[in-house]
Amino acid sequence: MFDSITGSITNAVNKIRHKDDVASLKKAITELKKSLLKADVHHKTTKDLVTAIELETKRLGIGHDSFLKALKDELTKILTTTGNQGFVFSNTPPTVVLMTGLQGSGKTTTTGKLANYLKLRKKKVLVAAADLQRLAAVEQLKQIAAQIEVDIYFDDNEKDPVKIALAAKEKAKKEFYDVLLIDTAGRLAIDEELMKQLKKVKDSVNPNEIFYVADSLTGHDATKTATSFKEQIGIDGVILSKYDGDTKGGVAISIANQVGVPLRFIGTGEKMPDLEVFIPDRIVSRLMG
Ligand code: GDP
Repeated sequence: MFDSITGSITNAVNKIRHKDDVASLKKAITELKKSLLKADVHHKTTKDLVTAIELETKRLGIGHDSFLKALKDELTKILTTTGNQGFVFSNTPPTVVLMTGLQGSGKTTTTGKLANYLKLRKKKVLVAAADLQRLAAVEQLKQIAAQIEVDIYFDDNEKDPVKIALAAKEKAKKEFYDVLLIDTAGRLAIDEELMKQLKKVKDSVNPNEIFYVADSLTGHDATKTATSFKEQIGIDGVILSKYDGDTKGGVAISIANQVGVPLRFIGTGEKMPDLEVFIPDRIVSRLMG
C-alpha cells in the first residue's frame, strides 16, 4: 500500500547526512516534495506541508528522527483538523443522510456498507433507492439490503427521486427507524441537471448529513469533484472508497486540506464489512510505512 509515499520517505530522510546540516535538509525536503506530488497530493497542500516540515525539523534539530517526527505531526495535523470522524446521530431520530457521488464511485455499495455498519451497532436502518439514473442501481440496492438484512424503501413505479426520498422519510419517522440512508443519483461527470435534482432532494428532505463518496483511484479529480459538490450542494463529510486499491495515498491528504470537510470513513474492499472509520493516526502510520 502507498508505494510512492512510503518508498520515497526513506529516500528523503536518507538525504540528511549529518546532524544540523541545513544543505542536506534542503535536499531531503526537495525529495519529499517530489514524492508528495507524485502521490497526488495537491500542489498547494504539498507546498504548505514541506514548508511546515522544514521549519519544524529545524526547530527540533536537524536529523533523521526529527524529520520523521515533523512529517508525522504535520500529516496528522492536516488529517485531524477537519472535524468529526465516523457517524454522527441526530438528537431526534431518524438521522437522515443523503449519499451522493459520481456514478461508479462506489456510492450504492457504500450505502450498503454504512447500513451494515450501523446495523451491527444495533441501529434500526432504512435505505432508500432514489438513484433512478442508473438502471441497475435500484436492483443493486435491493440485493445489498437483502444480503445484509436491512429494510429498503423503493417504488418501481415512481420516477421522481424527491417523492421517493420524502416517502422514505415518512416511513422512517412513522416506524421509528434510527437512520435513513438515501442513495441518490450519480452521473459520469458533474452536470447541472444532477446538481439541480440533488438540490431538490436536499431541500425536500432536509437531511442531517450529506456524505460525498469519493473514489480514491481518481486522484486529483476526487478533490475537484468533492469541492464542486461542497460548493453547489454543501457536504458534511467525505467517504473515501476503494482505498484498498490506492497505491499512492495522497488523495486523503489533499481532500482533508483542500476541501475542508471531514473524512468520515474509508472503503477498504468490495464486501459489506469493508468500511472503516477514518482515523488520522492509522492513516499516517500507513502512509509512513
Ligand atoms: P455507484 O455507481 O457509485 O453506485 O458505484 P457502485 O456502488 O456500483 O460501485 C462501483 C464498483 O466499485 C463496484 O464494482 C464496487 O464493488 C466497487 N467498490 C465500491 N467500493 C469499493 C471499495 O472500497 N473497494 C473496492 N475495491 N471496490 C469498491
